[in-house]
Amino acid sequence: MKSEEVDVSGTEFDVVIVGAGFAGMQMLYRVRELGLRARVFEAGGDVGGTWYWNRYPGARCDVESVEYSYQFSPELQQEWEWTERYATQPEILRYANHVADRFDLRRHIQFDTRVSALVYDETSDRWTVRAATGGEVLARFVIMASGCLSSANLPGFAGMETFAGEVYHTGRWPHEGVDLSGKRVGVVGTGSSGVQAVPVIAEQAGALYVFQRTAAYTLPAGNHPLDPGEQAAIKADYVGFRAQMSLRQSAGNWRVPPNPASIFDATPSEREAEFEARWARGGPGVLGAYADIMVDQEANGFAAEFVRGKIREIVKDPEVAALLSPDQIIGCKRICLDTGYYEAFNRPHVHLVDVATAPIERLTPRGIRTAVDEYELDVIVFATGFDAMTGALLSVDIRGRGGLSLREKWLSGPRTYLGLGVPGFPNLFTVTGPGSPSVLTNMMVSIHHHVNWIGDCLKYLQDHRIASIEASADAEVAWVEHVNEVADKTLYPSCNSWYLGANIPGKTRVFMPLLGFPAYVQRCATVAANGYEGFDLAGDRRSDAGGN
Ligand code: NAP
Repeated sequence: MKSEEVDVSGTEFDVVIVGAGFAGMQMLYRVRELGLRARVFEAGGDVGGTWYWNRYPGARCDVESVEYSYQFSPELQQEWEWTERYATQPEILRYANHVADRFDLRRHIQFDTRVSALVYDETSDRWTVRAATGGEVLARFVIMASGCLSSANLPGFAGMETFAGEVYHTGRWPHEGVDLSGKRVGVVGTGSSGVQAVPVIAEQAGALYVFQRTAAYTLPAGNHPLDPGEQAAIKADYVGFRAQMSLRQSAGNWRVPPNPASIFDATPSEREAEFEARWARGGPGVLGAYADIMVDQEANGFAAEFVRGKIREIVKDPEVAALLSPDQIIGCKRICLDTGYYEAFNRPHVHLVDVATAPIERLTPRGIRTAVDEYELDVIVFATGFDAMTGALLSVDIRGRGGLSLREKWLSGPRTYLGLGVPGFPNLFTVTGPGSPSVLTNMMVSIHHHVNWIGDCLKYLQDHRIASIEASADAEVAWVEHVNEVADKTLYPSCNSWYLGANIPGKTRVFMPLLGFPAYVQRCATVAANGYEGFDLAGDRRSDAGGN
């Protein structure tokens, strides 16, 4: 490790990284390896990103722990022992802290510092990085590692300030925890966060009201303690395991591989058996039961009906079961994984409130008023999601060449080249940005890929004494077209998902991530091998090439 050699004082850096979640930490490790002077700015009080903020009851990862982990260090990979198939938020946060300690990362990270503005100066080819609390530094390169699901979406209901009880958002949960025992709790939202929180809150609350606008498809996680033998078997060839997973479209789901067959070649009983087996294994495997589920509406309908059948089996009250049964394309909104979600509605103190037909009108001093009723509550939990993919990026006022504002450039939706660079914004990289597979994959794999691509790129620039790199306008146009073309061949754009930005009032509907991890990795490798084609590289304007 070279950290001892690196001077972190001063106000000018080779690289500034925004965010100290899993992306920011690995990026820091990589640029430090290159001998670059780096500083990370992190809004939170410690490392962990999403796992630092999302401490709501029941929070755990829906990617298996042996996959949702770093692969940059063989030693780390061997020494860390996961305890469950899906790790809880506290366990993942412990892991993040362990990584920060083990690789001595914290001394390069400035916590409690939200970056509010980034301004590029063409004359000096430097970015000014401004903090919301005041203070600024200069950087040659800025790497946005600010997360895809980190900008909380709190609905602007009338009367928010009038509610006399407590209000929380799952993505901003108090660190000291919240005592819900015996209380009347309202949970608004039934995406992944709500689906995880409901069964656990049901254990504590005196009464639980779940305000559902759109019923979610959720599959049983099938969580269990990790068998040490199973973990050891993966560790015996972790490199091979990781390589195998990166060949999958979603870069993961080792236990339930996708079936390449068409559903139309299966008999009804074969189909049922395939779905049943995948349901029993737990995880998202039902979606991968056949190759055409996400591209053919009829095929999708079989999977959707299978899940609705399960809901009818589990939920005792047929009216509640019907209300919990989604009718949209399964997998169009991100599939949820749960532990006892549908079962929770069999408990007498758990009530499902349909706010699709009778929307929430306002908060009152006593609780939530819908179009037909008022619900008296002590606590309201908003599990209402995030301004995904662009929210955190655009919360920073980013000004590129000629004062070009990223917010203005992206008014009609995000436009990037490879999800890594944006024309008009030289030397600015986005880790798992819009236009890359990111949220459609195991994020740890996409982060690993982008960190290495950016790291290799910085090394190339260093070795070739190139001052600046900027995505070309032509490359951006072609890339955006490609991302849309790929999405349009599937059923993904057919519903109001956060992938499309449809959950945020006023946000332009554009399918933001790119489907298909392996093809994307190939493309990025070709771009790099061809001297970063599609990027404009500016000649040597520096005598102070950073590092060694
Ligand atoms: P989400 O999937 O966007 O779900 C938000 C929920 O809030 C939806 O049910 C939505 O209804 C509802 N909602 C939003 N505004 C509303 C309003 N004004 N009135 C009534 N209902 C409203 O958010 P999330 O559950 O936080 O999950 C976001 C993503 O984070 C997930 O898809 C996943 O990628 C990630 N995540 C992962 C995990 C995990 O690893 N286990 C856990 C949590 C989150 P509509 O559907 O009608 O808009």
